Amino acid sequence: MISKLNNRELDQKIKSLARAENKLLAIVIEHIKEADRRKLYLDFNYANLYDYLVKECGYPGGSAQRRIDAARLLAIEPKLKAKIESGEINLSQTTLLQKAFREKDQRVTLEAKRSLIAKICDKTVNESQVIIAKELDLKIKTTTKETYQKDGSVRLEFTFTKEQYESLQKAKDLASNATQTNDLPTLIKYLSDRFIKQKEGSTATVAVKKQVLQRDQCCQHKDPHTQRLCGSRWNLHIDHIKPKWAGGTDDIENLRVLCQKHNLERYREQAQIRRIPNLMKSKWKNTQQCWQKF
Ligand SMILES: [Zn+2]
Repeated sequence: MISKLNNRELDQKIKSLARAENKLLAIVIEHIKEADRRKLYLDFNYANLYDYLVKECGYPGGSAQRRIDAARLLAIEPKLKAKIESGEINLSQTTLLQKAFREKDQRVTLEAKRSLIAKICDKTVNESQVIIAKELDLKIKTTTKETYQKDGSVRLEFTFTKEQYESLQKAKDLASNATQTNDLPTLIKYLSDRFIKQKEGSTATVAVKKQVLQRDQCCQHKDPHTQRLCGSRWNLHIDHIKPKWAGGTDDIENLRVLCQKHNLERYREQAQIRRIPNLMKSKWKNTQQCWQKF
């Protein structure tokens, strides 16, 4: 029973299983190498090894590709088997190597490939990446790529300079208590929220806020078509009628009460105006007319 093991036993067990897993992995790679050499997949009516591993052997796509990458490296460096077995090299590293060789259009000599395998032994994936990039003189990528996805999420690919990245890492460490994660998008969101709050947050005094609450008592959002007042008394926020970024003040005349929903809606609307500088002028006019109503 696993739950009956004490901590020392559990630790020993996990380590011995990990060793066994590496050993088994090395054997799997060796067999895939042989299947590749024989073109075994043709016997099973597959056009390539990848399809055979995914459709016939049940490997997820990424796992299949990593095993193929390792098997093809093993074909040119027999010592690789022992290194995978001992855990000196893992599949993330062999895949990094193969990706780099492909980027170089395979214009890498056999000796250079073998020497690189030796050089990344016992290195972390990040360290290996740097070693490989230096040895093969890989191009430094700096272009930013934005991919807009169907659920509204955006996939970004960009390059930080060494200094930018160090500063980001430092921020990550300092924020780790609050964010509870190493996830980069979460960190950037956290830092952005802090910045926005600092720039736009209400600096009105508590006394002024109290006065606004007493005066308005409920959400002052008016439906633009029916002019009906929202009137919600839940989760009330103090909103700047003329935003602070546009020079709005903390005077009581420039403040009003909004519910959470309408506060958020207004925030989004403002964020949009600010994001599109070209449209700003026309929207600006409308917004100003809006303000005059209050
Ligand atoms: Zn409301």
